[in-house]
Amino acid sequence: MNVEWVSRLPGSARVGLYFALQQAIGSRVWRRWRQFQSWTRLSSEQLKREIDLQLAKLLTRAIRESAFYQKLGLRLDSRASATQFLKHFPILTREQIRDRFSELVTDALRSEITSPADVSSQRYDWLVVKTGGTTGTPTSVVHDKSFRDWGRTTRLFAQRLCGFPLGTPFFRLWGSEQDLLQQQEKLDRRVLRNLLGEIPMNAFRAKEAELVQHYETIRNQSGVRHLMAYVDAAVSLATFIEDRNLPKPRLRTVMACAGTVTQEWRQILERVFGAEVFDKYGSRECADIACECSAHHGLHVFSPSVFVEVVDDEGRECAPGQTGRILVTLLHNLSFPMIRYQIGDLGVWAEPAPCACGLAFPRLLNLQGRADDMLVTEDGTRLTSVFIRHFVGVSLNRQLIREWQFEQTGPGAFIFRYIPLQSDGLDDNLKGIESSFRKALGSSAKIEFQAVPEIPGAPTGKTLWIVNHWKRSAKQSPILT
Ligand SMILES: [Zn+2]
Repeated sequence: MNVEWVSRLPGSARVGLYFALQQAIGSRVWRRWRQFQSWTRLSSEQLKREIDLQLAKLLTRAIRESAFYQKLGLRLDSRASATQFLKHFPILTREQIRDRFSELVTDALRSEITSPADVSSQRYDWLVVKTGGTTGTPTSVVHDKSFRDWGRTTRLFAQRLCGFPLGTPFFRLWGSEQDLLQQQEKLDRRVLRNLLGEIPMNAFRAKEAELVQHYETIRNQSGVRHLMAYVDAAVSLATFIEDRNLPKPRLRTVMACAGTVTQEWRQILERVFGAEVFDKYGSRECADIACECSAHHGLHVFSPSVFVEVVDDEGRECAPGQTGRILVTLLHNLSFPMIRYQIGDLGVWAEPAPCACGLAFPRLLNLQGRADDMLVTEDGTRLTSVFIRHFVGVSLNRQLIREWQFEQTGPGAFIFRYIPLQSDGLDDNLKGIESSFRKALGSSAKIEFQAVPEIPGAPTGKTLWIVNHWKRSAKQSPILT
């Protein structure tokens, strides 16, 4: 059945139909959306109180009804705030979620969910969600009905922050497994996509033919001015347009998702699309977590849905400006409590000052890549992947090298893989890169250079720029960013 006509309805009609369709399938996203919006008007004191109330509900439920948390023997002290009480909870790792999956499930769903293979018999109900698995083993978590609604809500809010609220058409350059497997998309999904004004483009393939196709899609719909994209894919497209001197398509905004938005990448996107770039942070298991606002001074945490902490190796709170591990607490996933979940990313808090946009939600200054991707230098200093990428970015000649990957294989041992574009001047450029690396990694670093036809990627199709396969046991050392 052709449902394309839905996308041609006026924006306001599509907004109404979107919420009506969600209601019909059993979602209460409308109610959550209104609730979320009421939080956006809170002062920072009011916000703290609301977060505390929500945390109290979650933590009480977890210690009463989740076997995993019951065993910890934690007792809520009625004199202390829930935000303080939270600090007594252990950090939740992916390994724990994998090993003790069924123990995490709370009473109401315990009989229904005993393993990640379970499927709900209801149409819109709890759902087992797998992490992307960019690195490591995928982990399964449960999203209950309420959290799924909050997940949809955070996406609506992120779109609004990025200048294309629900009803505004946008391109979506995303990894579509469906397309990859050539499967037929379900009817309700197609209707929803058209109601959302989404124009899909598949980010899993980044070969020339697909890039040409994406370029044509954008050029042929000049009325559509917004792009929601895997940041890797958006940059591949922008680089392709620039390298071939193609006329630049004009966009108003780019929402850059599913990867670290480095300074270089932001500049490429701004330059090629003439667009305002918004960094959006989220994951499959936590939905959207934070997003940049029009003030462009950090990413506002989506406080109505998640509580975020940044901690050092000892689990102590990091001060603004200090890089640390991000812990996420999902405030509304009461059936499968994810409390202080170590998501695997590194981040930095911005100074707690009022934001020009008026929103009181706290801000992460930026993300610094994955904790597992950090490389270790001769003297034990850890370098984040963002640091290394910036470092390579300034030394590398993009006319000579198309793509690259840097891997640590042991103490002081590294491999630099690259796809050469031409040989003239290549040796000099590689020498320059090598000497820059030695400055950062130590003069004794052994760097092997490998010209390859293709860069090994993650199972999800994303580029892995920095890889550390050296499983070190050394005590953690300072992080340089
Ligand atoms: Zn703001």
